[in-house]
Parts: sequence; C-alpha cells; structure tokens
Amino acid sequence: MRALFIHGEKDLRIGEKPKPEPTADEYLLKVASVLVCGSDLHYYMEGKLGTRLIEKPQVPGHEIAAWIWDDRAPELGLKKGQLVAVEPSRFCGECHYCKTGIPNLCTNIKFQGSPPNPGALTEYITAPKEAIFAVPDHFTPDMTAALEPIGIGVHAMKKADLQLADSVAILGCGPIGLVLLQLVRAHGAGKVYCVDPIGYRAQKAKELGADKVGASYEEIVEWTDGKGCDLVIEATTSPNAFAESVAVVKAAGRIVLVGIPTGVNYSEMNAMPFRSKEPTVKICNRMGEVFPEAIELVLRGHIDIDALITHRGTLDDAIDIFERQGEHQDGALKSVIYPNGYPE
Ligand SMILES: [Zn+2]
Ligand SMILES: [Zn+2]
Repeated sequence: MRALFIHGEKDLRIGEKPKPEPTADEYLLKVASVLVCGSDLHYYMEGKLGTRLIEKPQVPGHEIAAWIWDDRAPELGLKKGQLVAVEPSRFCGECHYCKTGIPNLCTNIKFQGSPPNPGALTEYITAPKEAIFAVPDHFTPDMTAALEPIGIGVHAMKKADLQLADSVAILGCGPIGLVLLQLVRAHGAGKVYCVDPIGYRAQKAKELGADKVGASYEEIVEWTDGKGCDLVIEATTSPNAFAESVAVVKAAGRIVLVGIPTGVNYSEMNAMPFRSKEPTVKICNRMGEVFPEAIELVLRGHIDIDALITHRGTLDDAIDIFERQGEHQDGALKSVIYPNGYPE
C-alpha cells in the first residue's frame, strides 16, 4: 500500500509499505482523513522534533479519522465501515502516571507518527480498542480527524483555570491558537487579544472573534496599557515565546505553554520581570484522555472546524500540501489529506 515518508529535512517521498496485520488486540482501520499538524511540520522542516530525530524513513500523521475495516468490529459495538476517531497515543496502562490519571506522561508511551512508530498517512493502520472512539453519525472525516488538535486545546484549557471575563492573550494564530481562541470564548473569556507575525493567520483570529489582532506581543502590552492579561496562552513555534508570555502576563496571572519551540531551547529570559510578576506557569505535553470532551464540544458547535481547514488533497498532493503549510504559503492553516481518495 502507498504511504507518505519523511526521509529527512525537507525530503518527502511517496513510497510503499506492507498492509498491516492486526494482532489479537488490535483492529484494522482504513484511513479516511489525516490533518497535517505542526509537529509533522517540525519533522518535515527540521528532520526532527526537539531531540527526536528522523533516522529511518518515517510515515507522519496522527490526527486521524478512519473507517473500522475489521470483521471483528462488532466486538467494539461498531459496524464494519463505521467512521471512528483514533487516539494516536498508546499508553501502557501500567506505569505510575497511567495509574494516577495522567497518561500523557506515560513513561512507556508510543505515539503514532513519532519515530519509530509509523503514522497514518497511508491507506490502512491498526489500533487497539482503547484508541478507537465512535463519533456521532453526522460527523465528517474532517471533523473526526480534528478531534485530536481540539483535544490538545481541551488539555490546555484544563491547565488554564480561566475565570469568567478574564482577559486573554493568545500568542500564535495557527490551528491550535485558533482552537483555543474558540474555546476561551465558549468559556466566557473577557477581552481576547491574538497575535501572529503572519498576517493571514492573525486575520483568521479576527474572523473567529478576537477583540484585537496584531503581529507582535508588544501590541498586547500597548493595548493593555502595560498591565498585561490575566491569562496568556502560548501556541507558537518560537523559542522567544516563553519570554514574550512573561512580558504580556498580568502580575499574578497565568501562562499556559502549548507550542513546541523550534530547536531544543527556549531563548534566554530576564529573570527579573518573571520573578516580580510571580505568574503561575503551566506547560502541556500532548493531552490526557480528552476525546469524549472534544466530541462533545464539536457536537455542540463550540468549535468551527471548517474555518480552520484551508487545503484538501489526496496522497498525490501530500508533498505539495506539506510544503505549502510548512512555508505558510497560499493562506495555508490546516490541511487535510485523504489517503484513500476523497471521501464520498
Ligand atoms: Zn497534532
Ligand atoms: Zn504508562
């Protein structure tokens, strides 16, 4: 079967791999759609994500909608051919963190699409029952694949402790920043300020209800007369964004770091403003078991997925799609790839 492979930095190729055989506790799935994530783009643009390197050709893709394609589907209460969401993390279920309700910190985690575990930009995959989530009948493959990045937003919101009418700064208007913008508004935020150096991304935040949008964190400092915001959500790839979050947080406010910085370090930060503001800082690593909450939020219309999706294509278009989204060309925000062709 065909698959997209990342061979190294800016080196993508379409190739072949064997169709997977599910083990006794796995099920065969036919991939319906995969959304391209910022973390896929780190592997493509840098040949690595932090310290995780592409050493062998790697199939990316972890924001997944699939049709259950296994004759044993009724064991899960599903019909063969039914659309499901697939959780990309395989938690061990045995370690201290799994047993204490923070499985995203599992010490034995295997993440689909992160080397050496193959991702979903191929025709068929397998998954165990814990990773398969039924979705409401009217959900499309795009809505279903989006449950993963929405889940990242849900996880970040649990850390954010947003209070009614809190002022919020969102640094970064990529798909995760735009999901979080929709979630903070649904959650009763006060003024929401969004910044992104790429104009069309900031503009999208305006369309989705941000009070003010701009290019740099310095504008938020100005808009708040130097006071800053109760809550800062960082969703960028910039190593400077931690320091910028400190610059825009109100004294005693909260900062939630969601983005993955390019490279392996945050930039140097002046300790004095950080200490004198005494903010609470939380950081997110993937997400916990939040698919049911993500489904509920989409079902209730709190998240507009279609507003985020700008490009669609099949595996034949996958290389172009990665280039366009990676280089922020042609208004690209979130792209969808259909490994088995456009769904009917
Ligand atoms: Zn993702
Ligand atoms: Zn574990």
